[in-house]
Amino acid sequence: MSDSETRAETGTDAELDRTSGTHSAPEGRTSASEATEDGRHDEEQRKERREAKPGTASDPTGLTETPLRVENLRKNFGGITAVDDASFDVDAGSLTGLIGPNGAGKSTTFNLITGTIAPDSGTVYFNDEDITELAPHEVARKGLARTFQIARQLADMTVLENVMLAPQGQSGESLWRSVVPFARRSVRREEGDLLTRAWETLDFFDISHLAHEDAGTLSGGQRKLLEFARALSTDPDMLLLDEPFAGVNPTLEKRLLGRIHELREQGYTFLIVEHDMDLIMDNCERVIVMHQGRVLADDSPEAILENEQVIEAYLGGTV
Ligand code: ADP
Ligand code: MG
Repeated sequence: MSDSETRAETGTDAELDRTSGTHSAPEGRTSASEATEDGRHDEEQRKERREAKPGTASDPTGLTETPLRVENLRKNFGGITAVDDASFDVDAGSLTGLIGPNGAGKSTTFNLITGTIAPDSGTVYFNDEDITELAPHEVARKGLARTFQIARQLADMTVLENVMLAPQGQSGESLWRSVVPFARRSVRREEGDLLTRAWETLDFFDISHLAHEDAGTLSGGQRKLLEFARALSTDPDMLLLDEPFAGVNPTLEKRLLGRIHELREQGYTFLIVEHDMDLIMDNCERVIVMHQGRVLADDSPEAILENEQVIEAYLGGTV
C-alpha cells in the first residue's frame, strides 16, 4: 500500500463520522462547540450517532438511496431562465457527472442546491429532508459540501488556516468571513483535533508543503486542491465539485481524480460538473446533461454519447 493510500485511510475523519444521513437537526453533526479537553466525549458521541442511524451494513454512510433529489427547480435572472424546471437525483456512493454547454445552468443549479441563491420555485431534498430554504453553512452541516467553479479561498490567510476554518461553515466568502471570530475561538479550544485533521487533509491532497503559504500565492491548480481540501474538511457525505479540473495541469488532474476515486471507495458520493466529456465518460457511471436550463438527458455514459439531442446541443444545433 502506498503512502498516499495509507493516508487516505487515516487521513480524513469523515469515515469516522458518517452521521449526516440522519441529522434532521443541526445538533446531529459534531460542531466545534462540542469539543472537550481530550476529545473522547466527542468521539463517543460520534460513535453513538453512527450506531443510531438507519444506514445498513451495506450503506455505511447512512445516506439514503438517492441522497440528493432536485425537483422542478427554476431560477430566472432578469429575462434569462438559467434553470428551467430541472429535476434529477443522485444515487448514494455514485460518481455522477453533470455536463452541458457553457451557460446551461450547471453552476446555478449547484448554487440553488447549496443555498447560495434561492430558487424561484422547486425543491431540493438531501437525505429526504427539504433543504431548499437552508443557508449554505446549514447545508454543509447536513453533510453536503461543494466547491466553487472559481475557487473561493481567503487569499490573505495561509493554506492551513483556510482548511482549519472551513469546518466552521462552508459557505460563500462573505458569510464565511463573518464566522471567523467564532472560528478563531474554537480553533484555540480544540486546536489539537482541528489541527491534526487539517494537516491530514493537506497531506491527503499533497499540499502540506504549502501549509504556511498565503492562499493568494497558490497556482490555479493548487487552489483547486485547496478548494477540494476545504470542502472535505467540513466532513461531508456528498460533494458537489464545480469544474474541479479546469486550469489544472495533467499531473494535478490525475492526482485529483485519484483522490476522488479513493474517497468514493470510502463511501462518499460525488456530483461533478466538468467540461471535458472524455473525463466524465471515463470516470462517471451516470451522466446528467443540461442544456438551456433544462435536463436534456440522464443516462449511462454510453447512452449519452449516442443521444442525438445531446450531440446536437454540443454541436450548437437547435434541440
Ligand atoms: P454553466 O455553469 O452551465 O456554464 P451558469 O449556471 O453559470 O451556467 O449560467 C446559466 C445562465 O444564467 C447563463 O446565461 C448565465 O449568464 C446566467 N447567470 C448565471 N448567474 C447569473 C447571475 N448571478 N445574474 C445573472 N445571470 C446569471
Ligand atoms: Mg459553470
